[in-house]
Amino acid sequence: MTDSNPRNVVIFDTTLRDGEQSPGASMNLPEKLEIAQALIELGVDVIEAGFPIVSPGDFESVREVAKIAGHTTVCGLARCREADIDKAWAALRAARRPRIHVFLATSAIHREHKLRMDKAEIVRRAVESVRRAAGYCGDIEFSPEDASRTELDFLCEVTEAAIDAGATTINIPDTVGYATPDDMRRVIGALRQRVGNIDRAVLSVHCHNDLGMAVANSLAAVRAGAGQVECTINGIGERAGNCSLEEVVMSLRTRADYYGAGTRIVTPRLVPTSRLVASVTGIQVQRNKAIVGQNAFAHEAGIHQDGMLKERSTYEIMRPEDVGFAKTDLVLGKHSGRAALADRSTALGYHLAGEQLDNVFAQFKILADKKKEIYDGDLVSLIEQQMLAVAERWTFESYRVTTGTGATPEVELTVSRGGQRMSTKLAGGDGPIDAIFLAIEEITGTAVTCKEFRVHSVTVGKDAQGEVQVEVEHEGRTYRGRGVSTDSVEASARAFLNAINRIAAVANGEKKT
Ligand SMILES: [Zn+2]
Repeated sequence: MTDSNPRNVVIFDTTLRDGEQSPGASMNLPEKLEIAQALIELGVDVIEAGFPIVSPGDFESVREVAKIAGHTTVCGLARCREADIDKAWAALRAARRPRIHVFLATSAIHREHKLRMDKAEIVRRAVESVRRAAGYCGDIEFSPEDASRTELDFLCEVTEAAIDAGATTINIPDTVGYATPDDMRRVIGALRQRVGNIDRAVLSVHCHNDLGMAVANSLAAVRAGAGQVECTINGIGERAGNCSLEEVVMSLRTRADYYGAGTRIVTPRLVPTSRLVASVTGIQVQRNKAIVGQNAFAHEAGIHQDGMLKERSTYEIMRPEDVGFAKTDLVLGKHSGRAALADRSTALGYHLAGEQLDNVFAQFKILADKKKEIYDGDLVSLIEQQMLAVAERWTFESYRVTTGTGATPEVELTVSRGGQRMSTKLAGGDGPIDAIFLAIEEITGTAVTCKEFRVHSVTVGKDAQGEVQVEVEHEGRTYRGRGVSTDSVEASARAFLNAINRIAAVANGEKKT
């Protein structure tokens, strides 16, 4: 790295807004707050926490993130409508650094088919909306949706008008993931050259990954002068996802000589944050994923290993510790104390305090009695279970199944709700897990269709814990559930109940409005 004083690129994280739109990735409030906390520690400049008008859950999430964000900017999304902007502000007002993000489609295809507005009307609507938002706070972002397919002259016209109305960031979204790096360079270059007041705003990009080019397109924009990149952890998002935060950040850092730009990201927090988002959303990271994939730093080929031993820089352009890969999979055991547990949890990206730490520690002791060595994976599972427990309505108590080849399983299941225990007995299903699912449906009165069922072991060895992930459908929506136990039938029951609890939470949230 030769550049000693690179310009700073603003990292705008939209994991909680655009990322959450990944199918099956919806998160509850405690999960969103846990991720927001991790993003703050990661050092992102802006957290887009939701789209306040779309649901009470989004409103609440923006409001609660605003309370904990401190110096990190918190952003809420709004269409160019008065009610949207007012609602966004109502959610953001507690933030020390609030930002309202208004968007309006500008491309011909959207103008004609979606909005049925002509160009003059689009400009008028954008200006009115930016003004209204700027009446609430000084930090206003305007996005001409589908900008990469908008006529350049018109894009310049809208941008100039939005800046005059008070926009301080102009974000160029490649909404459908259609652009090439050259397109992005051309658009950013043209805006910088042709928009008279462009120096009063930061240019930003928001790239989707439909052709696998979100990161390349974002970097091309930075090279052309963009000062903000919108991205998500692990690149999650609708369809093929968004620009991946960790890839953009490490590209800028590793090739500072080329980009002449850097970020404020605390890069050793990348892997812990990636793991947290993967376990909360259930969207696992592929092994060969750049930067945070399990194999990203694994040098297996003999010739590489030989080179690595002699001199690391022969094959390594980044050090694993720079992105937060721990050097060893540290093992905790029966005699490890609270402090060691808290330490290890922090290193893994979690914040345990008070009652949460007490509960995890108690569970840790129970597990340490069952299996001698507690690996990072075990600890993550314990913590996740604890976080999930916050929203638990139905709690697993016990089960008993009798079955065998060719026999109909008989199951006895006990769960509790609000401290009250309930049991059911039934015969049916294909095998013990199916039987337990039927019993859970009966006892909770919730019918679902199981779409996916996965079991994998959290760590190694015969006494390893099994983690079960289920995806179920209820009234047209998909819900996830996770459960962990050294007994995989129990883990299945816990995962299924966890999904049922999410359904109950959504039903309750919707009744509030
Ligand atoms: Zn998007």
